[in-house]
Order: sequence, then structure tokens, then C-alpha cells
Amino acid sequence: MTTKRHLTILGSTGSIGESTLDVAARHADRFLVLALTANQNSEKLFTQCLQFQPRYAVMLNPRSADDLDNKIRAAGLDTVVLAGIESLEHVASLPEVDTVMAAIVGAAGIRPTLAAARAGKQILLANKETLVMAGGIFMDIVQKHHASLLPIDSEHNAIFQSLPHEFNADLALSGIRRILLTASGGPFRQVELAELASVTPKQACAHPNWIMGRKISVDSATMMNKGLEVIEAHWLFNAHPDQIQVVVHPQSVIHSMVEYVDGSVLAQLGNPDMRTPIAHALCYPERMESGVPSLDLFDIARLEFETPDFERFPCLRLAYEALARKGNMPTIMNAVNEVAVESFLNGRVPFLAIPAMIEQVMQSSPWQEITTLDEVLAADTFARESAMEWLARSYGLNSL
Ligand code: NAD
Ligand code: MG
Repeated sequence: MTTKRHLTILGSTGSIGESTLDVAARHADRFLVLALTANQNSEKLFTQCLQFQPRYAVMLNPRSADDLDNKIRAAGLDTVVLAGIESLEHVASLPEVDTVMAAIVGAAGIRPTLAAARAGKQILLANKETLVMAGGIFMDIVQKHHASLLPIDSEHNAIFQSLPHEFNADLALSGIRRILLTASGGPFRQVELAELASVTPKQACAHPNWIMGRKISVDSATMMNKGLEVIEAHWLFNAHPDQIQVVVHPQSVIHSMVEYVDGSVLAQLGNPDMRTPIAHALCYPERMESGVPSLDLFDIARLEFETPDFERFPCLRLAYEALARKGNMPTIMNAVNEVAVESFLNGRVPFLAIPAMIEQVMQSSPWQEITTLDEVLAADTFARESAMEWLARSYGLNSL
């Protein structure tokens, strides 16, 4: 009888959070859900508490937490309900927690994810924005506090699976020529360029292959998601931008590849279902059932590949630029993207305002070196303010 792994799931009510609980529920003999967290959806978190009976449930929003607490008491559960960012950090670093699923969306995930790293936890990293905003700082903390990092993003999980077991953070020394980072191209890969001006949030969120949260769905439609993933791959695998080739692969069956100097290309394939990388990381280095059905190659029949179109997807170009410039630029790009995506999702600005806003704020922001978390958070705040000023100037908007 082995002891159960104790899990904290940050962002349990989201798309990744729900898939994680689905996998954990299939293996109740292996995993104990110790803490669940969400932003403000108390109804959904309550349903999850009924099923998993965690020791802690944390909501960022205090009023939602009160609401959840009432429901929990009425149901006679023992779950302790907490509120606020410090409580998110607290449950990410509890001594009895082994593994933290970091699945909060956006910059909001950075503090709890860093807390897990400082506490030396095993981190299953879905929140790519933490690496984009503060890659160097985060990786240093992981190393210093002997935390471990397993990538959940399907591409990075595929790369991890295709790397040599003894990968020593140097691609060239490991005989690797480059990483082939696959991208579906999203819902607008083939629409007429002129139509992009008038696409709606609903169209942008209708991803051809994946069902995901709304923010990452829009990021996939602009291909900013792939840009964020290039930066994520840079930090996770110590890859120079020249060693990362984006390959558009509309079927989303190959989740990424590693090319070796002898010409071998190793790939990980599977149905586009996040339960595969989640199960892989939860059970690593063993394997377990995830609920994902077998890949039907006869049904897929054909795999296609295209070069990325930087004109159609300027966000991808901007991400390479931010990575090349380093300093505060990736943090600024990420923050402005979050503001732009939210205002697009709220129907306040058109789709093409997203790259326009990012490009202009990046251009007008002074470059700065970043060495501390405070500097990261200051750059994030500065960029959000600049993005709001841009919205006021360009669209007469005073709020999102
Ligand atoms: P989602 O919008 O479905 O869920 C987000 C979760 O974060 C929810 O539980 C929400 O309550 C919580 N949250 C939101 N704002 C918060 C805040 N301010 N403070 C605390 N909690 C907050 O998002 P998702 O699609 O599950 O994505 C989560 C992360 O995983 C993102 O960083 C995304 O890029 C990454 N990711 C997602 C997928 C996918 O298939 N969905 C794939 C790869 C990577
Ligand atoms: Mg991905």
C-alpha cells in the first residue's frame, strides 16, 4: 500500500482544473485532493467540494468565499473555506501537499505558483503566463528550493516526453538540433484576411480541436498562445529562439517533436484531450489510465504541416520580438494581451485591436532590466495602465 499523493489544484473550476479532477477521480487510490481553489464561481466549487471533500477550499473573492462557506456548513462538510491571494499562496505551500496543479489563468497565477516553488513542491505547470512574465526568476526559485516542474501544456509535455531521460538542460549537449512546436492555427487559419476585422468572440472561442477556457481560446485564435508557448519552451528547455520552430499542424494529433542531430525526429501523438498530459504528469514516471480513448489513425488518415503566417498572426511575431528583447518586454506583452483579450471578449474592441494594442504599447514602453518579482509586478501594472490609456485614446473607453 503506497501513500496517496496530496494535491492542491489551483484553478479547479477551470478547464484544466476539471480535467485534473476527472483524472484524479479515476485513481482515488493514488490521489487525495487536499485543496481546491477558484476565483468566484462558488456554485461550481461547492459541487467539487461535495464530490472530493477537500480539507481547504479557497476563493479569491471574499464574498464568493462567504457564499461557499454557507453552502459548506449547510451541507455538513468539514472543508475549511478561505479567501484572498494569501490563502491561495497558503494552500500552494502547505507542508502536507506533495503536488500543486498550477491552473489559474493569466498573471493572477503567478503568486500562488511561485509560493509552490518556494515551498519545494512538485509543480504541474499549466499556467504558462508565469513563465512568460517571470521565467528567469521562477526557474531560479524552482532550482534553489528543489521544487520540480512538469509541463502540462500539451506541446511542452510532448517535448518533455520526447527528450532524453537524462536531459541536462543543454539541447546541443543532448544531441538535439531543435524543437518542433506544433500549432493548430486556431479557428482563423483559413478565413479571408478581410473578415478578421469583424470576427466575434463566439467565433474566436470555437476552436477546431480543443475545448478550453475563453482566454486561451482567444490566444489560440490570434496565435499569441503559440507565442507564449515559444517563450515557455525557451525557459523550460533552455532553448534559444533559433532552436524553436513553430509548425502549423491543423489536426492537433502530433503535440510537438524533438529533432536530434542524427536526423531522428521523436514525437508524441494522441487525441487532443488535456487528460493525457495531466495523467502523464500526475503519475510520472509511471503511466496510468486517463480516460482518453485510443487514437484512431485510420479515422485521422492525414497529417498536414504548414509554415506559420506572421502577417495573418502578428501576435506570434510580437512574442518572438519580446523574447529577443527580454527585460520587461515579455511581461508587458503578456499584460497588454490580457487586457486586450478581455476587452475583445467583452465586445468592446474588434479582434484586430488585440495585436495593435500589444504592438503599440510594447513600442512606447521604455526597456528595463528585470531581476526581482517586485519589478515583474510593477511592469505588469505599468503595462495594464498603458493598455487602458490606449483603449481610452483609440476607442474612447474608460473601462474593460
Ligand atoms: P479557465 O478560464 O477555464 O480556468 C481558469 C481558472 O482560474 C478557474 O478555476 C478560475 O476560477 C481561476 N481564476 C481565474 N482568475 C483568477 C484569479 N484572479 N485568481 C484566482 N483564480 C482565478 O482556464 P483554463 O483554460 O483552464 O487555463 C488555465 C491555464 O492553463 C492557463 O494559463 C492556460 O493558458 C493554461 N492551459 C490551458 C489549456 C486548456 O486546454 N484549457 C491547455 C494548455 C494550457
Ligand atoms: Mg498548448
